[in-house]
Amino acid sequence: MTQTAKNTDSDQPQHSFGADVSRLLNIVANALYTNHDVFLRELISNASDACDRLRYAAIQQPDLVEDNNNFRIHIYKNTDKRTLTIVDNGIGMDKAELMDNLGTIAKSGTAKLMEQMKDAKDPLKLIGQFGVGFYASYMVASHVTVASKKADSNEAWVWSSDGASGYDIREASNDDLDMLDGARGTVIILDIKDEGSEFLIDEKIRQTVEEYSDHIDFKIFNNTPEETDKGEGKPLNKASAIWTRNKSDITKEQYEEFYRHITHGMDEPLLTSHWKAEGVIEFSSLLFIPTLRPWDLYDPSRQNMVKLYVRRVFISDKLDGLMYPWLRFVRGVIDSQDLPLNISRETLQYNPIIAKIRTAVTKRVLSDLDKLSRDDYPGFITFWGQFGAAIKEGLYDADAHREDIFKICRFYSTHEDGEKFTSLDQYIERMQDDQNEIYYISGENVASLKNSPQLEGFRSRGLEVLFFTDTIDDFWLQNAQQYKGKTFKSVTHGNVKIDHSEETDEKPTSDQTSLIEKLRSVLEDDVSDIRISKRLTDSPVCLVAPEDGVDMNMERVLKIHQKYAGGSKPVLEINATHPLIIKVGDIDAGADFDDAALMLLDQARVIQGLPVKDPGSFTKRLTKFMEKGL
Ligand code: ADP
Ligand code: MG
Repeated sequence: MTQTAKNTDSDQPQHSFGADVSRLLNIVANALYTNHDVFLRELISNASDACDRLRYAAIQQPDLVEDNNNFRIHIYKNTDKRTLTIVDNGIGMDKAELMDNLGTIAKSGTAKLMEQMKDAKDPLKLIGQFGVGFYASYMVASHVTVASKKADSNEAWVWSSDGASGYDIREASNDDLDMLDGARGTVIILDIKDEGSEFLIDEKIRQTVEEYSDHIDFKIFNNTPEETDKGEGKPLNKASAIWTRNKSDITKEQYEEFYRHITHGMDEPLLTSHWKAEGVIEFSSLLFIPTLRPWDLYDPSRQNMVKLYVRRVFISDKLDGLMYPWLRFVRGVIDSQDLPLNISRETLQYNPIIAKIRTAVTKRVLSDLDKLSRDDYPGFITFWGQFGAAIKEGLYDADAHREDIFKICRFYSTHEDGEKFTSLDQYIERMQDDQNEIYYISGENVASLKNSPQLEGFRSRGLEVLFFTDTIDDFWLQNAQQYKGKTFKSVTHGNVKIDHSEETDEKPTSDQTSLIEKLRSVLEDDVSDIRISKRLTDSPVCLVAPEDGVDMNMERVLKIHQKYAGGSKPVLEINATHPLIIKVGDIDAGADFDDAALMLLDQARVIQGLPVKDPGSFTKRLTKFMEKGL
């Protein structure tokens, strides 16, 4: 008390800040923030917390809110005085709380931050992982006055500081009490610096509230409490966080309205998933899968679209680590209970809590989709058509979720001749007893793949082959080689052993051996090997990739994406029982045989979607053979 009296007229504040607070204020003042808006977000969040806490306390002690149980927040400017005032009728602070909460660093998050900053090389980077809350006011204010009256107290106190070395505290005057919204709560008056002048414009206040605090579930007004009581002014926000409500209280229409609000879209959500995680980490999640693919789904930025809230306060709608890029089409809100209200979006993505949320949400989305495939198959197929290719990117870079992704993957297959989708589990169910591989053929579209000569032997033996037609298929296959212990095997790659019965490799006859020798002498520059095919039944020839090379289509795709420079020569397989091959075998070595050999190679190339080797010579040969034939 004596101290208070002594210092009243001096420039020195009564109380010094703790060393940690001084240091923190120093950092805040030195332009830590690039984005000034965050101070308002912090103050609204504190006001909303104060309302939350009183609301909770009033459950036990209803008389705390006897005078007014209508919680609300007011933000208004005074241009003449250059002040911005934030008023809440929440729980308020008593003298000790004002001193503890605003004069020292009591809260766990910031305390932890200061702890770590002691020996950090780059404190500015580090601070981004934590929030600085109330102290953010000093980004825009040269002086801050906090008048507060605790809900169950008769006293009111005023804390004030220029954010330099310390603060003053005094009992509230009648003028201070007049500024409160009723009989309790907190008033924060900011003396706005030049840097913060935009916050003396109502439009800026309104925009900032709309952007960051729309879903704070207390009404926020842009006028004084008296004006509101006279019925002037409408709340700036909707004052209702839909995701915090019970599922059973929300109609389909309300979900859809919220979906359209966040997507600015016209479509309806194909899937709405609303749930709460409770346990090691706590968060609410309200996510939607759109019906239609956005036009920029394949934009290289692969930007996440889910909004992150922390305790109903909007944090970011482009936090990279929150969702996997392959779930970038998912829209909605995740609201964490555990994260500090954060200031730097740059470091937030590396926060371990974010990683845990990502894992939990990913599992949930994948299991929701799996469920959709059982409950609403047509809906699921719509989804797969729009977003399947994006989801499959996850096979490449999210090992932990690979099994769950595979579970929802659908492919066309020879089983329905490419008319209907199959799952990998259905494929495995249909596999032959001793079959250990999941056969696939990859290429640009099902229609042309269906005619691939390489499929013939599989078809005739009743072996199912999947059609992989998305570019991404050739990429994930490099990382994800198995599903449920079955290896993916391309029918255009290497040797295949498709007679699963006791197979003895038949030796080629001497005629066949000599044909292969003759072909080899003509084609040795173009192919790495020539052999009798087990794949072919109807076509005379086909190309396959050598055992140690990259699969045919994968090579083509990699080349397009400039990820692959080398080229391995393909293997030419011939159908020894085909009449054409038998006839070619009868031609003696010489010009005619050479032409026939080159025509066979070109034929194999054409069906593979490759250009003929030399169009001029090809056309001459074709003309010659047609003349003879006609
Ligand atoms: P945090 O909100 O993360 O705890 P802040 O720096 O934002 O950190 O606030 C510090 C503390 O000050 C809060 O925890 C709260 O106890 C108190 N406080 C701040 N603003 C208010 C308010 N408007 N009403 C009641 N208490 C408040
Ligand atoms: Mg706070």
